[in-house]
Amino acid sequence: PTTQKVAMITGANKGIGRATAEQLAGLGMTVLIGARDLRRGQEAAAALRAAGGDAHAVTLDVTDPATVQEAAKWIEERFGHLDVLVNNAGVTGSGQVSPQDAHDQVPSSVDLDMVRAVFETNVFGVISVINTMLPLLRRSPAPRIVNVSSHAGSLALTSDPNGPFTALLPSAAYTPSKTALNALTVQYANELRKDGILVNAAAPGYVDTDSNNHTGHLTPAQGAAVVVRLATLGADGPTAGFFSEDGPLPW
Ligand code: NDP
Repeated sequence: PTTQKVAMITGANKGIGRATAEQLAGLGMTVLIGARDLRRGQEAAAALRAAGGDAHAVTLDVTDPATVQEAAKWIEERFGHLDVLVNNAGVTGSGQVSPQDAHDQVPSSVDLDMVRAVFETNVFGVISVINTMLPLLRRSPAPRIVNVSSHAGSLALTSDPNGPFTALLPSAAYTPSKTALNALTVQYANELRKDGILVNAAAPGYVDTDSNNHTGHLTPAQGAAVVVRLATLGADGPTAGFFSEDGPLPW
């Protein structure tokens, strides 16, 4: 057991998750790079250690409960507790990546198996990881959970006919998965408020990563900034909130 602050980030081998790990390590935390492919996680952890951070790779596929349990067991043995959990791992499902087949997510013709796969990672995986890590988080003096959501998950923004998000292609998979993640954020926050566990959702903005074929205009570091802010909230910080780097977002 250690009093060193320990943060677990899912899907941290690349993109926004990796940038989040870099920034939390820069703040002096021990960061655990969750990766479904351990080799990719180890490469990211090695790069972070070379830059002076304390980083370790952990095999964690959010859709495979056995790996989530193994990861929790390893954290328990090695550190005895967890201070920060960032649920970053996410998939877009086919159709969000290349504009040619963006209509793959259109509600009236969507492939239900694709919807199921997206929810399996972006929603059910988050429940699995939170519930498995909660006993470790409860041993922290100031536990924080950040769910990496999206502006696209906001019902308020996407249902506004005059808003900027009407330009988004209708989606029955990715977009509703982030709305569901937002709903889960509120429910977990309400349950855990009395225990001092702050649970919030972050919208990183449109970030240059593999998930959008590098069409985003923000750097992963810029996208990670709001995630890091919510991961390091003080005791008087918000819970059950949804934030971008520009401030609170409507649900
Ligand atoms: P990337 O594709 O770069 O990274 C996604 C990460 O999630 C990868 O590490 C990937 O692992 C991992 N992952 C996918 N499925 C699983 C799984 N089952 N178990 C564990 N890890 C998994 O995407 P981003 O960095 O862009 O996305 C990170 C988060 O940010 C996502 O939740 C995304 O929805 C959200 N987001 C991104 C935006 C953007 O503009 N980029 C905008 C709004 C939200 P692997 O390398 O093995 O595939």
